Amino acid sequence: MTRKVSVTGGKGGTGKSTIAVNLALELACLEELVLADLDVEAPNDHIILGVKLEGEEPVTIMLPVIEYEKCSACGSCAKVCDTGAIIAPKGRLPMVLPRLCSGCRACMLVCPNNAIREGRRVIGFTYETPISLGGRRITLVTGMLREGEEHVSPVVVAGRRRAESVGARFMLVDTAAGTGNTVSIALEGSKLAIAVTEPTPLGEHDLKLILELLGEMSIEAWVVVNRAGIGSEERVRKLASQYGARVVARIPYSRRLLESYVSGVPIVLMRPEDPISLVFRKLAKEIVEVV
Ligand code: SF4
Ligand code: SF4
Repeated sequence: MTRKVSVTGGKGGTGKSTIAVNLALELACLEELVLADLDVEAPNDHIILGVKLEGEEPVTIMLPVIEYEKCSACGSCAKVCDTGAIIAPKGRLPMVLPRLCSGCRACMLVCPNNAIREGRRVIGFTYETPISLGGRRITLVTGMLREGEEHVSPVVVAGRRRAESVGARFMLVDTAAGTGNTVSIALEGSKLAIAVTEPTPLGEHDLKLILELLGEMSIEAWVVVNRAGIGSEERVRKLASQYGARVVARIPYSRRLLESYVSGVPIVLMRPEDPISLVFRKLAKEIVEVV
């Protein structure tokens, strides 16, 4: 069975993906690994890894198709649609606005003439990219929402299922930032979640929210302080302990980390003996021992 760990964070811009990718590269030295990038609105693990995505598969949801020859223009479909995806001016034929449709099928159920059939529309893609870097092998599964699309959850679910279907012994999930529904979907099944934060008042505020969510989901939480040194770590430690979590690593603000980010080579590959790379190596070992 795949053992699953997530890297998450209440706030965007905390360096969550950089931490996920470097951690994945160290975990891949110890375990057969699939890295699932489920931050589907802005997946960037492949950019940090410097690889091109492969194995594209569309993610589709149901889209109603109206057979106008059967339609009596009764308007029932528009009335039942709570996303406003069907417009039906009185006595006129209805029209579907695909981008607003959630695929709930309510319109099909209420149509008295059986005039609505099931079509599909593409809302995003998943990818499965085999990666070989620095002697490590990783399968990167990426979920990507189509531009302008609003229905995020089905793409997260599709990405998670595709990552699970790889059948690797270990899965590291990179979730979106925040504590929304799509983050919960990405976290599902995790034995451990690593909450990435920075020691600032905003970081603390968002850390509290993600720790609350992890508590509700009964997922063990560890905290990694990124950009350590820019604020009060004591407050982060105190907050973590209030939620039964512990600070397992601190990553100082570093020019070398920034250089690796800019050059597109993760620091554990660029400078394997850098103190920051050693933090990732130690953390990977601890994770494998515990999960
Ligand atoms: S499937 Fe649901 S959301 Fe889409 S048009 Fe029909 S009722 Fe509206
Ligand atoms: S419910 Fe059926 S018959 Fe009525 S307007 Fe919609 S498609 Fe036409």
